[in-house]
Amino acid sequence: MKLDYQNIISKIYADIIAKENLGKVPNYIPELACIDENKFGVNFTDLKHNSFGCGDFEEKFSIQSISKVFALSFVYEKLEEKLWERVDVEPSGSAFNSLIQLEADHGIPRNPFINAGALVICDILLEICENPKEELLSFIRELTEDDHIFFNKKVAASEMQNSFRNAAMCNFMKSFGNIKNKPDSVIELYCHLCSIEMTCKQLSKSFLYLANGGRKPSDNKQFLPYSKAKRINAILLTCGFYDESGEFSFLVGLPGKSGVGGGIIAIYPQHYCLAVWSPKLNEKGNSYRGMKFLEEFTTQTGESIF
Ligand code: GLU
Repeated sequence: MKLDYQNIISKIYADIIAKENLGKVPNYIPELACIDENKFGVNFTDLKHNSFGCGDFEEKFSIQSISKVFALSFVYEKLEEKLWERVDVEPSGSAFNSLIQLEADHGIPRNPFINAGALVICDILLEICENPKEELLSFIRELTEDDHIFFNKKVAASEMQNSFRNAAMCNFMKSFGNIKNKPDSVIELYCHLCSIEMTCKQLSKSFLYLANGGRKPSDNKQFLPYSKAKRINAILLTCGFYDESGEFSFLVGLPGKSGVGGGIIAIYPQHYCLAVWSPKLNEKGNSYRGMKFLEEFTTQTGESIF
C-alpha cells in the first residue's frame, strides 16, 4: 500500500507541536543562544523530488555538525581509503567535544563526526584545497542545486571566541602529528564549517545523494561511488548522534546526523531524506522534538533500515 507521507508528517507535526517542548537551547555559542526556541520545521524529499514541509521548513538555521557529513564526503572522495589512517570509524560513546580517548588512541579520533574527527577533516581540507571554504560551499550548493547557502560570519566569530576546547583538541592531536597545519587555521575553517546556514527544505534535498548510492538524483551525477556512500551511511548510523547514536538507531532506525543548532537529517536509503529542526536539545545535545518526530515517523510508516 502506498503511504500518504504528507498526511502522516502533518499529523505527527501537529501532535508534537501540541505537546511540551522540553530541553534547552545551548548557550556555549552565544550567537546561537538567541534563537526562538519554539521554531519547528520538517521537510521530506524523495528521490523523485517530491518535496513537502511543515512549519518553519523554509527558514535558515545553523546546521552546525550536520556540515561534518558534507566535509567528510568531499574529503573521502579525494583521499580514498587513505583517509582512515587519520580518523577511525568507531562510535566514541563520549560527548562530541570530549578529549578523553585521544590520548589512548594516539591522536586518532574515533570517527569523523565528533569534533576531533571533524578537525582532522578540516586539516585535510586545508592540505588539498586552494580555497577550502569556497570549494566546500560550492560542493554543498551543487548538491542542493541552490546558490543561496552561506556561512554566518557572526556565528563563526562567536564560535572562534569560545573555541578553547576545540583548540585544546587540535593542539593535542598536533602533538601526535595528526594535524599538519597551524591549529589556528584549522579552528578557523572548522568554525566556518559549523556556521553554515540552511533550511530543512535545502537539507532534505542536499542529502539525497546518500539515499541514492552517491548519485544526485536530478542529473545522476556521481558524487561518491556506491561503496563510499554505503560507508558514510554506516558511520552515520553508528556515530551520527554523539553519545546517543545507539539510542537514535534503537528508536528511529535510520542513518542520520544532528547538530547543536537543533537540526537533524535522516536518510532512508533508496527512498528519501527527512530534515527536522527544533532548537531545544536533550541532555545529549540532540533536538528534543526532532528525535520525537523521527521516532514517531518510522514507527507509523514502518520504514527504517531494520
Ligand atoms: N560548533 C560546535 C562545536 O564545535 C559543533 C557542535 C555540534 O553541532 O555537534 O562546539
